[in-house]
Amino acid sequence: MLDELRAELGDVLVTDRATLDALRADKSGQRSGSAPLALVEAREIAHVQAALRWAGAHGVPVVPRGAGTGLAGGAIAASGELVVSTARMTRILRIDAADELAVVEAGVLNGDLNAALAPHGLWYAPDPASRAISTIGGNIATNAGGLMCVKYGVTREAVLGLTVVLADGRVIRTGHRTVKGVTGYDLTALLIGSEGTLGVVVEATLRLRPSNAVASRRSARRFRMSRPRRARRPRSPRPASVPRRSNSWMPRRSRRSANCSGGNSAGAELSC
Ligand SMILES: Cc1cc2nc3c(=O)[nH]c(=O)nc-3n(C[C@H](O)[C@H](O)[C@H](O)COP(=O)(O)OP(=O)(O)OC[C@H]3O[C@@H](n4cnc5c(N)ncnc54)[C@H](O)[C@@H]3O)c2cc1C
Repeated sequence: MLDELRAELGDVLVTDRATLDALRADKSGQRSGSAPLALVEAREIAHVQAALRWAGAHGVPVVPRGAGTGLAGGAIAASGELVVSTARMTRILRIDAADELAVVEAGVLNGDLNAALAPHGLWYAPDPASRAISTIGGNIATNAGGLMCVKYGVTREAVLGLTVVLADGRVIRTGHRTVKGVTGYDLTALLIGSEGTLGVVVEATLRLRPSNAVASRRSARRFRMSRPRRARRPRSPRPASVPRRSNSWMPRRSRRSANCSGGNSAGAELSC
């Protein structure tokens, strides 16, 4: 049965025992009872399409997989299943500093993306504690959070659009490139967190933020611009004839009292 798929995919289709055995587990600590049928190590969208078309035609269940760092067992595969991995789809297709967005393939590691964004003064906010080892596709499929999500939101708040391969091999593109792109059903939000049950995410358009250094420079500039300028009063020079007060060492209150003629401290203060 696999020959047909092998003819189409060549060495993208992997069936060696050790590799398939590793697909029985993720980081949840769970393990399936047996190894899956095969692994498709997709390097381009067409590989994912071919795998899903073949699986659909033969009634074979598909398990999408990123880096396998999930803690819920979603990427664990078992006997008779086809694993479709996007971990080898690692190209950053576009970084647009003006529009503060990036277009990436699903297998890009979250940490690698941020390393590539840093020289542009940009930053992708969702930061699961696994960011050095988990993929953007996996982050999207699990709607991953992290410590930054308290302030900047979870993955859903940082994804503008998706390219997804459906179960029959068709490709759909969802979402928009602008924050104001609000019309229509929000299929992007529906797909985020769906754990691969609605399709395989192959590309994503991500919303970026200015990095902390850039952001603090910008807000300092904004603060300087918004501060009203105070007109400088010209300093009038002290006339040479006015003598310096000798009681300048005294606290202000007592000085006033002392300067009023003939008064005691409390009464003099009122009558000055
Ligand atoms: C040390 C450690 C710390 C972690 N910290 C956090 C944290 O702070 N926050 C958090 O939310 N999670 C955390 N996790 C869990 C995990 O890293 C995340 O869920 C991560 O998003 C999974 O990404 P992955 O690439 O490893 O996906 P996988 O584990 O391979 O897959 C996870 C799920 O997504 C599906 N999937 C994967 N790729 C695709 C795709 N391209 N298209 C469609 N479906 C796909 C799989 O079928 C599976 O259901 C942590 C894990 C570890 C080991």
